[in-house]
Amino acid sequence: MAIARGIRENLGRASWIRRTFEEGRRLKEKFGTDAVFDFSLGNPDVEPPPEFHETILRVLREGGKGLHAYMPNAGYPFAREAVARKVSREHECPVSPDHVILTVGAAGALNVLFHTILDPGDEVVVPRPYFGEYYFYTLNHGGKMVTVDCRPDFELDPQRIAAALGPRTAALIVNTPNNPTGRIYRKETLAELAAVLEEHGRRVGRLPLLVVDEPYRDIVYDERKAPPILGLYPETAVVSSWSKTLSIPGERIGYLALSDSCSGIDEMMDGLVMSNRTLGFVNAPALLQRAVAPLEAKTADLSRYAERRKALAAILDAAGIPYAEPEGAFYFFCRVPEGGPSGSEAERERAFNQCLRNENILAVPGVGFDYPGWFRLSYCVPEATIAGSEAAWKRALLEWNR
Ligand code: PLP
Repeated sequence: MAIARGIRENLGRASWIRRTFEEGRRLKEKFGTDAVFDFSLGNPDVEPPPEFHETILRVLREGGKGLHAYMPNAGYPFAREAVARKVSREHECPVSPDHVILTVGAAGALNVLFHTILDPGDEVVVPRPYFGEYYFYTLNHGGKMVTVDCRPDFELDPQRIAAALGPRTAALIVNTPNNPTGRIYRKETLAELAAVLEEHGRRVGRLPLLVVDEPYRDIVYDERKAPPILGLYPETAVVSSWSKTLSIPGERIGYLALSDSCSGIDEMMDGLVMSNRTLGFVNAPALLQRAVAPLEAKTADLSRYAERRKALAAILDAAGIPYAEPEGAFYFFCRVPEGGPSGSEAERERAFNQCLRNENILAVPGVGFDYPGWFRLSYCVPEATIAGSEAAWKRALLEWNR
C-alpha cells in the first residue's frame, strides 16, 4: 500500500526531536544508559506529585457507574469548570466554563483549533525559532505556516509580525515560556503585539486569532512569572496541558480555552467540539479528566529544574558554548561555538552535532526548530546525566577546536 504523497514528502522533515530520541535509545542499548547523555526530548523525568496517583487510585476505588463511559465531547462539566478557574486565575481575566474544552494534550488542542478555523490556504504566523510540530499541525488542516524572526534576544518582534500579517492570516501562535529558547515574552511586547493585531484586523476586516500555547507556564526561574495574556486582545485562545507541569506527557491530557470576548463564540465552540469528535479524539481521556480537575493548581517538584539549569549552565560555560539563558521551560538553546570547520550555518551545525554524537551526547539540531547554527539541550534529565556528561563535553570541544 502506498502512503499519501503529502505524507511521503514530509517524512524527511519529520520530527528531529523524535529522531534524536530514537537514536538515543539505540545508543543506550549499545553502550549502556550511563554512557549516553541524552538531552533530546522534553520528556519530564521528575515524578508527578503523589496526589496525582492518589487521586487516580481514589477514583478507581470509589468506582461508580459510567466511570469509563463516553461523556459530552467537550469534557466533564466539573473538568471544564476547573480549567476555567485555572485559566481565569493565570490570565487575571474571567473565562466561562462554556468556553473550555478538554483535549488530548496541547497537541490535540492545536489540531482541533486549526481544523476548526483554517480554510485551505489560510496562514498561521509563527515566530522563529519554533516548536517544529507547528508546521505539521498547520499543514494537517490545509493551512500554510508563515514564519517571522524574533529579535536577537529571542523576544517577539511585533513590528516584524505586523509586516507578515496579510488578508489570509487566520492565526498567530505565541509560545511562552518558549520551546526552544526559554524566553518569557514581556508584558509590554505582548501589549504591543495586541495593538498590532487589532490595527491589522481593523484594516483588512479580519482579526487573526491569537493562539497562546503555554504548556510551560509554571516552569519559570529567578522569581519570574509568565504575564497574563488573555485579556489583552479580544480574539484569543489559550492552549495548554498538564504534560510538563504534572510530568504526565504520556497520559495526553490538555485543554483549550477561548476568551469570552471572541466573536461568534457559540458557533466557534460548536465547531471545536465537533472537530474534537470527528478528528477521532471524541473526548479527552475520562480517567485523566477526573485526575487533573482537583489538581489544577498542583505541579510536580519543578525546583529540580532550577538545579539542573544551574548545573548544565556551569558545564556549558566551562566548555565555552554560548546559549540563551532560559527564563522558563527546561531547554538551553545554544549556539554552535566559534572554531570548527568553515561552511554554512547548517554544515557547521551538522559537524558540531557529529562531534557531540561521537561522545554520545545527544542534542536536537537547530534545523529541527528552523534555526540552523544552533542546537537545543533538554535538561529534564537526571542530575547524573548532566554531571556525567562534563568530561564528554570537554572532549567534544577539544575535538571541535582541533
Ligand atoms: N507546544 C509546545 C511548545 C511543546 O513543547 C509541546 C510538547 O513538547 C506541545 C505543545 C505539546 O504538548 P502536549 O504533550 O500537551 O501535547
